[in-house]
Amino acid sequence: MIDPITNSEQAIALENEFGAFNYKPLSVVLEKGEGVFVWDVEGNRYYDFLSAYSAVNQGHCHPKIIKALNDQASILTLTSRAFHNNVLGEYEKYICEYFGYDRVLPMNSGVEGGETAVKLARHWGYEVKGIPANQAKIIFVEGNFWGRTLAAISSSTDPDCTIDFGPFMPGYEIIRYNDLEALEKAVKDPNVAAFMFEPIQGEAGVVVPDEGYLKGVRRICSENNVLMIADEVQTGIGRTGKILACDYEDVKPDLLILGKALSGGVLPVSAVLSSDEVMLTLKPGQHGSTFGGNPLACRVAMAALEVIKEEELAEKAYHLGEVFRGRMQELVHKYEVVELVRGKGLLNAIVIQPFGDNTAKDVCVRLMEMGLLAKQTHDHIIRFAPPLVITEAQIHACADIIDQAIGSML
Ligand code: PLP
Repeated sequence: MIDPITNSEQAIALENEFGAFNYKPLSVVLEKGEGVFVWDVEGNRYYDFLSAYSAVNQGHCHPKIIKALNDQASILTLTSRAFHNNVLGEYEKYICEYFGYDRVLPMNSGVEGGETAVKLARHWGYEVKGIPANQAKIIFVEGNFWGRTLAAISSSTDPDCTIDFGPFMPGYEIIRYNDLEALEKAVKDPNVAAFMFEPIQGEAGVVVPDEGYLKGVRRICSENNVLMIADEVQTGIGRTGKILACDYEDVKPDLLILGKALSGGVLPVSAVLSSDEVMLTLKPGQHGSTFGGNPLACRVAMAALEVIKEEELAEKAYHLGEVFRGRMQELVHKYEVVELVRGKGLLNAIVIQPFGDNTAKDVCVRLMEMGLLAKQTHDHIIRFAPPLVITEAQIHACADIIDQAIGSML
């Protein structure tokens, strides 16, 4: 046994000695979270403007979600799918009605949701569309991110994700994001089973497509008998100011992938929702997961989804997003280095020009010193995604911090 961690240096030293270096976090060591706030081991309080990549939409340690977790944890946590459990069916009905789908396939992490969707699409391609064996193609877009497994990185256009990890999954084609003509052309190949994309690209730097893109994707997929797969792992569950980002254009994907905030950040819970036509192509033994659909996850996910509706968090995110982008727009006028702000709801980013020796990471370090945790993507983008339970006064307080942080670096 080692002594309890009492300071940041100790914690970071242990990670450096025993952990893999697959992340380079800011040097803050968190030990507690509540609502929009997190605290480090020294007792300093921060606004969390990352929300664990939008997993903590309902706020840290939401009492209702934690109660659901605790109540179920002392009764039954895991059965595997070798047996039924008494919560799974209730959850499946709840989530299908919540999002308007026939069936759900429960998994754990977001990337497993993506893998599941790709497998389902291929299966549908062979069994329903009649694609010849092993010829199915899935179309992705440049800048996509859906996780770190080999199937996911095979569709990546980011060299950090791919270099020295090949060989890659065959049967993928990559087209430009926000380019309906490219999609129209790609789906003419009769072996295309599906088009998979994020309605707003999160990891790429909160890239918002033109209005009409989602409707265009829906139309092109329908006209060409190609499945539309929306990866709403990051954009879903209230984050962008609607329950789903696809709701902005009233389109319903054939397959919907959810994760992250589906559990309020409490444990890994993901899901793929779809129709009877797609889902019933799967037969027993063809796909599964030891943990997927466990009663603990089911109870937590129902509570997490209830919180979104009960507290009207999507509506709140819509309104507060306007307020936040308004404040950031002021910074675009005030500081030459702030190029633009973009986003929807409370999924936003500012694009900055590197200034002096400073990049987006340096701005994040300064923000941390001033009590706000945010994460850069690439050298010039900072994503701002606080828990949706944030208040309007707190949004203004945080906009003041961002303003002062940038001002202090010039
Ligand atoms: N899909 C999107 C859009 C994501 O942003 C992410 C993670 O950031 C994933 C999938 C993968 O989720 P997970 O890290 O839970 O596997």
